[in-house]
Amino acid sequence: MNDMTKNIVLWLVIAGVLYVVASSISSQPSSDNISYSAFISKVENSGVEAVEIGETAITGTYRGGGNFTTVKPPGTLDTNLMPTLIQNKVEVKGIEPQREGFLMRLFLSILPILLILAIFIFFMRQMQGGGKGGGGPMTFGKSKAKLLGEDQIKTTFADVAGVEEAKEEVQELVEFLRDPAKFQRLGGKIPRGVLMVGSPGTGKTLLAKAIAGEAKVPFFSISGSDFVEMFVGVGASRVRDMFEQAKKHSPCIIFIDEIDAVGRSRGAGLGGGHDEREQTLNQLLVEMDGFDGNEGIIVIAATNRPDVLDPALLRPGRFDRQVTVPLPDIRGREQVLKVHMRQVPIADDVEPAVIARGTPGFSGADLANLVNEAALFAARANKRMVSMEEFEKAKDKILMGAERRSMVMNEKEKLNTAYHEAGHAIVGRLVPEHDPVYKVSIIPRGRALGVTMYLPEEDKYSQSKRGLESSICSLYGGRLAEEMTLGFDGVTTGASNDIERATKLARAMVTKWGLSEKLGPLAYEEDEGEVFLGKQMSQRKHVSEQTAEEIDREVRAIIDDCYNRAKAILEENRDKLDLMADALMQYETIDADQIDDIMEGHKPRPPKDWRDQGPGNGAAASGDKKPGDDAIGGPAKTH
Ligand code: ADP
Ligand code: ZN
Repeated sequence: MNDMTKNIVLWLVIAGVLYVVASSISSQPSSDNISYSAFISKVENSGVEAVEIGETAITGTYRGGGNFTTVKPPGTLDTNLMPTLIQNKVEVKGIEPQREGFLMRLFLSILPILLILAIFIFFMRQMQGGGKGGGGPMTFGKSKAKLLGEDQIKTTFADVAGVEEAKEEVQELVEFLRDPAKFQRLGGKIPRGVLMVGSPGTGKTLLAKAIAGEAKVPFFSISGSDFVEMFVGVGASRVRDMFEQAKKHSPCIIFIDEIDAVGRSRGAGLGGGHDEREQTLNQLLVEMDGFDGNEGIIVIAATNRPDVLDPALLRPGRFDRQVTVPLPDIRGREQVLKVHMRQVPIADDVEPAVIARGTPGFSGADLANLVNEAALFAARANKRMVSMEEFEKAKDKILMGAERRSMVMNEKEKLNTAYHEAGHAIVGRLVPEHDPVYKVSIIPRGRALGVTMYLPEEDKYSQSKRGLESSICSLYGGRLAEEMTLGFDGVTTGASNDIERATKLARAMVTKWGLSEKLGPLAYEEDEGEVFLGKQMSQRKHVSEQTAEEIDREVRAIIDDCYNRAKAILEENRDKLDLMADALMQYETIDADQIDDIMEGHKPRPPKDWRDQGPGNGAAASGDKKPGDDAIGGPAKTH
């Protein structure tokens, strides 16, 4: 049964019920409703001509004309009724117990069941996410893959920028899909499964779609989580169905996003009982083995956690080819920006290269978002072109969260924040190998009360021990500045995020990066949380209690050292701390030039309108969060 007929049946049932109810009401002729005793006395006074006696009701006509009805009192037996009627020469007719009434009662009694059924069907449909043509309960095992026909795909390689290596690697797939027969004649072997590995937003989906677009073949897309259902076996039958459909459209591409939702190592994770997922995964493996390469289906799966995938998925003949889709580097970012800038009117002063320099760590999706936000800012200001100003605003918004000018801080809190940020900035300027501090602000953004921003001069792929220690120093600069001005009892909770990040850095230096002389270049701990991501408990490395203590001591030593260094710096530069805090109280935001002035020991020049700043801003923010807030603002500065 398809949707249409199901709907029609439902409406027919409703119409039927309505009809029966309506007709049973209207079949009663309009008449006097009189009491039983009134009826008897009418009969005795010879006022009644004829009656029809039913099971409960008596209807009749008066001698002078007009109808009446009355109801026999239930449970009583009026044995005098018939003699009285006959005595008074009333014509008596009996009525058969009504068929219709019985049917109706039956109907009414099953009505609740029908209703429950209807509601059940309704929810089933919702659950199937049917919405756009999805099926009712009969289509439970149908795949939810979305099909884009070859004419519907407008994406080409030109839309995917900054990932040249990945593009080259998949080029061959395009040629194969265009003419599978040619390849087979030459005995070429084409991979059936390609695993795209990369963080979210790097363009994996986009690239897969572009392959389909270039080769002009249909594109099935589905997310790994779409297979996962409460009911065992449903996922497996969806996989089967998807491959069946794909075979009909071969050559084509099946794209499975987030394959880790189904493809995690079997029998792993906490809590066991993953029957459904295992069956789904098994079915996927069966299908990938089952179809011959010459059927022209290429399965492309995306994940950012290849390490948690079941090894069986990665065996030859399955996803045996991996294509890494990395975060774009500075040139890649420039190209991605150019791709997206084609969609909006761009003013002459916009330099993609400059924006690219100020956005290390941005993914393709982040950059697309940046262009979009800039366009929105321009639209809000009724501009016809998007200029550099809007890109600056958009970047600040994405990196630091939207400004919250409406949030009112009292003077004391403001001063506090000013000292805190000045502490970060001054230490950041004076420690070695620290990214240059280029902007300090005490305008609340997102959840942060104030922000100090650094600009890495180029993309960083690694960091030195000295640089890491400098980061820890500057993170404590905020807290230290508070301590120096408010005394230890006056320190606020504003530094919680700084402390958390500093501690994480120090711990990673000891346990991951081998940067502690005492403990040597050993990996001591795996990331916490791995357990939940599909690794087994037993795979975690354990350290002896003694080593754990040593680790703690060493982390503590690093932090104490950095803390003391930062403290010395701030005490030595107390005058600059006051100068900067004053400047922040006055201007709220100060830029690189003003910071330079302060570092030279004099009052800063008044700002040019801070929105008109020169190129090259951007990068990482050190947001100061309120307690209990664990969100991290902007891309991570280090590692
Ligand atoms: P993923 O699948 O890796 O999470 P998507 O392919 O869904 O990322 O990317 C989301 C959006 O980001 C794309 O629709 C596109 O607009 C933009 N984007 C991402 N990477 C790129 C890129 N390399 N070139 C151009 N645009 C990109
Ligand atoms: Zn801080």
